[in-house]
Amino acid sequence: MPLGEFALIDRFFRGCGAPRPDVTLGVGDDAALLECPAGRQLVAAIDTLVEGTHFPPGCPAASVGHRALAVNLSDLAAMGAEPAWALLALTLPRAEERWLEEFSRGLAALAREFGVALVGGDTTRGPLCATVQILGSVERGTALTRSGGAAGEALYVSGTPGDAAAGLKLEQARLAVADARAARYLRERFLFPSPRVALGRRLRGYASACIDVSDGLLGDAGKLARASGCGVALDYEALPLSQSLLNAVGPELARELALAGGDDYELLFSVPSARAAALLGELPAQEWGYTRIGSLRREPGAVLMRDGSVIDFSHCGFDHFASGR
Ligand code: ADP
Ligand code: MG
Repeated sequence: MPLGEFALIDRFFRGCGAPRPDVTLGVGDDAALLECPAGRQLVAAIDTLVEGTHFPPGCPAASVGHRALAVNLSDLAAMGAEPAWALLALTLPRAEERWLEEFSRGLAALAREFGVALVGGDTTRGPLCATVQILGSVERGTALTRSGGAAGEALYVSGTPGDAAAGLKLEQARLAVADARAARYLRERFLFPSPRVALGRRLRGYASACIDVSDGLLGDAGKLARASGCGVALDYEALPLSQSLLNAVGPELARELALAGGDDYELLFSVPSARAAALLGELPAQEWGYTRIGSLRREPGAVLMRDGSVIDFSHCGFDHFASGR
């Protein structure tokens, strides 16, 4: 590598993200020393992005840096936790300064936005791959989990699922969209997702269960329901769709992408009826950007309802999209 490993770490990753008083020792030693807050539980998650699997080859470096952290922030958001520290294991085919500059800029901007300090990592040569481990904390006993839901509870989702899946198809040139503004918006939703950390933290005390939507709404709703020991029914007509997605692909494909697309990094959560009024009062749905899309129910499995009856999702393109990813 023309740029030595130590020079690379020093230039692009030392002091990356937000400065934090609880980092006693960050990048530069054999390991980081972090001060764990009293009365809180440590929350840890890790996710890997592999070029060609989790993002298309040639994806902008700033997006790879952003998404490597964003997918992890989204996991902490789903737990209702506050992110604090991150570690980065980066594998690069070569040390290209411009690429690294952009990558670290994308990562650092999101880290600063969420008050996260990059406290260590590892740098190796090989096929492009970025793994981020995130650490954070939550007040003891208050974390949201997938398993706290119960039959009869309302199910909500934040944002407008399906946008990122359309954005990915645009990036891959597997979709052509005449409306240039819509195309730009959808691309942005894939390249620079917004992890719902603030919403996740505020949902503690209201939501009974929560999961972040990364693999498609219907599948992730099924995961939450299964973990909660019940099933789920989603309302086809209630799916919140962005105007850009509707303009780009029309209502049928928009719903398919919303249900099966993935890469949304929105929050899906259940709320017991006794707490629904408080939730809607304290966190107005319009302001916080979430929508009721269904209910947990006793019958196991995830189904889609339209006009009061179950519709077979496989007949409207689900399999096509599941295998097309
Ligand atoms: P060691 O050989 O002891 O594991 P390294 O040479 O791998 O040390 O790393 C030196 C320091 O730089 C360590 O503090 C490590 O955490 C940090 N580091 C290495 N790569 C990265 C990276 N991509 N991002 C952030 N910190 C890194
Ligand atoms: Mg090392």
